[in-house]
Amino acid sequence: MARPTPLLSALVSALLLAGCGGKGAPGPASGTRGGTETSDGTGGEPRPRAPAPRPRTRRPGRAPTAGLAPLGPGVALTDGSQMAVAAGQVAHGARSRREIALTFDADMTRAMLATLRSGRVSGWLDRRLFAELRATRTPATIFLTGLWTRQYPAQVRRLARDPLFELANHSIDHAAFATPCFGLPTVAGAAAKRQEVVGAAHTIEQIAGVRPRYFRFPGGCARPSDVSLVEGAGERPVLWDVVSGDAFQRDPNVIVRAVLAQARPGSIVVAHCIGAPNTPATAAAMRVIIPTLRARGYRFVTLSQLLAG
Ligand SMILES: [Zn+2]
Repeated sequence: MARPTPLLSALVSALLLAGCGGKGAPGPASGTRGGTETSDGTGGEPRPRAPAPRPRTRRPGRAPTAGLAPLGPGVALTDGSQMAVAAGQVAHGARSRREIALTFDADMTRAMLATLRSGRVSGWLDRRLFAELRATRTPATIFLTGLWTRQYPAQVRRLARDPLFELANHSIDHAAFATPCFGLPTVAGAAAKRQEVVGAAHTIEQIAGVRPRYFRFPGGCARPSDVSLVEGAGERPVLWDVVSGDAFQRDPNVIVRAVLAQARPGSIVVAHCIGAPNTPATAAAMRVIIPTLRARGYRFVTLSQLLAG
């Protein structure tokens, strides 16, 4: 389904999810939040999908504090794009335990919401993925945008009630806190940024009855002041050390290979739970990844469990 017409491909590539470890459009952000969310023909230019992208290796290495990303701003990624990464974000748990946290981002930009309302996409909810996680009793952490939470309140309440899942915060509308960031729209100014954090937390708490402990910057892009801002709001910024590369990837085997190659004790895997057309192969990939990592002796845990102790 969702056979990508040129129009849809352009929309998907130019407007929609690009970050969070995804393969996004290179170059500077193509718009500002609340501004143009249609293609401006610059930073949002669609690119052909690479047939078999190599997994990006952006490992924390010798972190000053275990589990914290030591990366500076403007990190160049191996696919040619860049993301601004601030130190101080959690990138993994203890390397001494064979535990892995699967995390799935529920991205929803205002452009994605518009495509949903227009009927150009049927949904941004990967039901097959959640069914797979439940069927295999696999704990996971779901980073919710406020817009996604409002769009799927019943699903969010079900997730909140299920002890398999932990709910976390992914901003209101997936705007980038720092650029470059995969061509995402941007949010500027401390007040607007703070609202992205506390507003989404409020929505999640209102609908799900749980208060998120962790925040993930859209695209992972942030400056040190943004990290402080999130901490000031009482949440802990979380990155990842395993990039699933599920954004715009149709071949589940590519995702499987990427995750299995990068996974280590304490890893945080970033993927998405929005399904086709943006992340059409995530569920199929997890069908292989989950049993394979378990066979290697790993145990799946929520972020709180991974980072406990
Ligand atoms: Zn995201």
